[in-house]
Amino acid sequence: MNESNPNPGAVRIIPREAHNISRKQISSGALRVLYRLNEAGYAAYLVGGAVRDLLIGGRPKDFDVATDATPEDVRRLFRNCRLIGRRFRLAHVVFGPEIVEVATFRGNGGDVDEADGGRQVVDGRIVRDNVWGTIEEDALRRDFTVNALYYDIADFSVRDYVGGFEDVQRRVLRLIGDPAQRYREDPVRMLRAVRLSAKLAFAIAPDARAPFAELGELLAHAPPARLFDESLKMFLAGNGLKSFRALEQSGLLGAVFPLTARALAFRGGETFRGVLEAGLAGTDARVAEGKSVTPAFLFAAMLWGAVRAQAEREIARGVEPNLAWQRVSLHVIAEQAKHVAIPRRFGQVMQEIWMLQPRFADRQKKRVFRLLAHPRFRGAYDFLLLRAGEGEDVAELGRWWTRVQQMPHDALAAELGVATVATADSAGGAPAADATKKRRRRRRKPAAQTAGDPQ
Ligand code: ATP
Ligand code: MG
Repeated sequence: MNESNPNPGAVRIIPREAHNISRKQISSGALRVLYRLNEAGYAAYLVGGAVRDLLIGGRPKDFDVATDATPEDVRRLFRNCRLIGRRFRLAHVVFGPEIVEVATFRGNGGDVDEADGGRQVVDGRIVRDNVWGTIEEDALRRDFTVNALYYDIADFSVRDYVGGFEDVQRRVLRLIGDPAQRYREDPVRMLRAVRLSAKLAFAIAPDARAPFAELGELLAHAPPARLFDESLKMFLAGNGLKSFRALEQSGLLGAVFPLTARALAFRGGETFRGVLEAGLAGTDARVAEGKSVTPAFLFAAMLWGAVRAQAEREIARGVEPNLAWQRVSLHVIAEQAKHVAIPRRFGQVMQEIWMLQPRFADRQKKRVFRLLAHPRFRGAYDFLLLRAGEGEDVAELGRWWTRVQQMPHDALAAELGVATVATADSAGGAPAADATKKRRRRRRKPAAQTAGDPQ
């Protein structure tokens, strides 16, 4: 049902003087694509998130174009063009660092149960969508009304087939068509609702939110690769903290990050929340400053509560600590990867960040220098500070490592003195390669360095 538009598919044309989109706000690459398509006799529109963002005075992060030209037509018009995608065939036109995505209008083809040439629906889900259609059909298969507005380069008007223009003014996310059916077709739309509502400060229409309780579970079976992409958009695009809170509030967190949801609910959950939210806020701040961010660090924070609790349990059960951390790290990553894909290179970094945490407590000279030289020291140290800032009992350790890494090698060596007594857990945990050449001189530790952490 679509309350705002009793007559879906009927176009409303908002002329240039009745909206605020100016060509000055559109990227030069997108303008060139729009004009060239138009001059070649094709329809050419700016569409989707860019139109929505421009209408609310925002700065779009990318500019997508919709046209009646086929991908092959587009390739003939642009030398700097490549065709991509199988599930969803598209043309990418490249201008230096800018990529303009050009999509051919897609039609409905009806909901059939098998391949009908271009569109394939399996168990109600669309798995392939390459049936060309009209602009009206293209509008109706988009997710939210505010994402289905078309800016026409021919006369600078905005075309609205679904009541999206009004919904932008009212700042509300409303699904096109029957919400439950649209979520069944593609459960990731539930996450898109949550993410866009957080990013844009739009409300989710009540009838778009109502199915979450019943259909949220479908996200547990969504393709992990898509959930990875969507997670990056939620947590690493500058609105991570807001997105996380909205996800938790929506009741959908458990379907996508079950270990995180569980760890938040248990003993120590509030401390873990602190670490996680500080990680998200730190990531948002880095994005705002134009610095690089890595999914590994943030995913390490998302899963820290689960890793720490499980490792402590194993250790209490008598498992050797290093082994416990290693096993638990691998297990947690494998469990989470059933839901959200974790590419191997990120999993490896996450594991290193976690496994280095207990090693910060060991302040023997040799081990201190080894840890300082570890390729993952920086990430692990940043993670230690995250924990230290949120009431975990590592604040003194954090300060200590902050101080020692700024010291010249000789001064630090002098302060740490000669190699100190091996602690109980290091005796069995030393790497095998070291065991042969290990001839540790046993001296009594200076008092200041004996306690792992005085707090
Ligand atoms: P963002 O600002 O985060 O890029 P966006 O709305 O532009 O938001 P994209 O993923 O870039 O999101 O998608 C571009 C457009 O494609 C959307 O505006 C929407 O019209 C359509 N679209 C994207 N994902 C879906 C989906 N799962 N179902 C239907 N339409 C979709
Ligand atoms: Mg977009």
